[in-house]
Amino acid sequence: MSDEITDRHAETAAEVLPEQRGLYVDGEFVDAADGGTFETTDPTTGETLAEVPAGRAEDVDAAVAAASAAADGEWGATGASERQQLLHEIADRIEERKTEFLKLEALDNGKPTREAYGDVSAVIDHFRYFAAATRLNEGTTLPADDGPRHVSTVHEPYGVVGAVVPWNFPLLITSWKVAPALAAGNAVVLKPAEQTPLTALKLANVVDDVLPDGALNVVTGFGEAAGAPLTAHDDVAKVSFTGSTAVGREVMKTAADRIADVTLELGGKGPLVVHEDADLDAAVRAAVLAIFYNTGETCTAGSRLFVHDAVAEEFLDRLVETAEGLAIGDPLARDTRMGPKVSTAQAERTLDYVEQARAAGGNVLVGGGRPDDTPSDAFVEPTVIEGLSHDSAPVQEEIFGPVLTVFRWDDYDEMIDLANDVDYGLAAGVMTESASQAYTTAGDLEVGTVWVNQYQDFPAGMPFGGYGQSGIGRETAFETVREFTRTKSIDVSIR
Ligand code: NAD
Repeated sequence: MSDEITDRHAETAAEVLPEQRGLYVDGEFVDAADGGTFETTDPTTGETLAEVPAGRAEDVDAAVAAASAAADGEWGATGASERQQLLHEIADRIEERKTEFLKLEALDNGKPTREAYGDVSAVIDHFRYFAAATRLNEGTTLPADDGPRHVSTVHEPYGVVGAVVPWNFPLLITSWKVAPALAAGNAVVLKPAEQTPLTALKLANVVDDVLPDGALNVVTGFGEAAGAPLTAHDDVAKVSFTGSTAVGREVMKTAADRIADVTLELGGKGPLVVHEDADLDAAVRAAVLAIFYNTGETCTAGSRLFVHDAVAEEFLDRLVETAEGLAIGDPLARDTRMGPKVSTAQAERTLDYVEQARAAGGNVLVGGGRPDDTPSDAFVEPTVIEGLSHDSAPVQEEIFGPVLTVFRWDDYDEMIDLANDVDYGLAAGVMTESASQAYTTAGDLEVGTVWVNQYQDFPAGMPFGGYGQSGIGRETAFETVREFTRTKSIDVSIR
């Protein structure tokens, strides 16, 4: 079984790996200045997928210089309609190679191809959405006031944007940053996560002849060595970072030194509220998506479930049964619902939280360990835990794995207080058949996105971002284009 999977992954890798795997700087694929490389691993098999350059400060300098030159040169002179066409061309190129992209994402991250299919579909759609947005970045004209004057605004690009991406949605989050940054007229230096650099490099291969040299640059490498010099770079006027709150805080501090603008999309610890009148089939489906989708490696994970006492028994029975039935295994197999975590280290981190939960008196209703008969140690069972104190570490901290903690409630106000009692405020869910209850609870939850009777939906155009320590700024929407621009007011005295 294991050998069969390893062979299938090796064959698939040979078909879908990006042809050129250098740093992508000024339209060329190059080695790191010091020749350093690192290996990216297939978490399903534990085998090395590819060796890629380990970029460092010197490489970041070269990429930022290329981006600056592009912003001051051909790319900066590109008009809105041309940028629209180029973004459409990028979307079309990705669509032509869609199967390759989604298989590569499944290999590098471990996500099932059915989920990777959803990611790549959304990537294409985001490039098309932001292609349209290039034409809508309009300024305003003030109503005439005293004397002959004309006051108007324009939204100008920053120049060079530094984009840092995590490993859970490598290509999707890349598109959330690159598409609006280019739409606004910026040049980009992208730093993918060290665990999952391959789809960003494939994107560079696929769009190499679409964009002018230097408009998009990709520097693979580690956080401290490549991410930090990029986010601290004097010539990077805007940083868009997605990752952990701890690193986001550091990024913001370094941006403060040069008063650079930041968009931060950070961690989450979302509540999913099940009301007494909820459709329980829909509630179980939403809970499964909330915590087991992408193996729980979602910043929006609904990892704290608040179920009304009156329906708790039945809901939990059905949830446990569904969790037990989820097919865990090879992400390349069609029926797989959960693949491995991105690495064995991440699986161990998740299981450590489960041990902490057990030690704190948690009752593991399902899962809680590694599944049998998987090809590597990166797999974790879907896990549901009840009986924890809400202030315990597994409830307060982001586990980033398929581990759900459950609380029963009958007093609405007490439940809302607990639901809001975390540092994060990214996303939440509400399950109810009452529209009035849906809006009331959505209003009471201190988060940036509330899904009602569903979970994990990210349509292009709907702003996505956090309250509290989940971040600053909004992605995936028209206002994102604005966040990649500065407003200039032009106040003309007419003689
Ligand atoms: P991470 O913060 O460790 O790394 C994220 C990225 O930052 C990687 O590319 C990494 O190389 C880089 N990085 C690390 N140290 C850096 C530094 N000092 N300076 C600049 N860059 C640095 O996070 P992770 O473990 O890769 O991802 C998981 C985290 O991302 C979770 O906390 C999750 O909630 C968060 N996340 C948030 C969103 C969102 O939109 N809010 C989406 C996905 C993931």
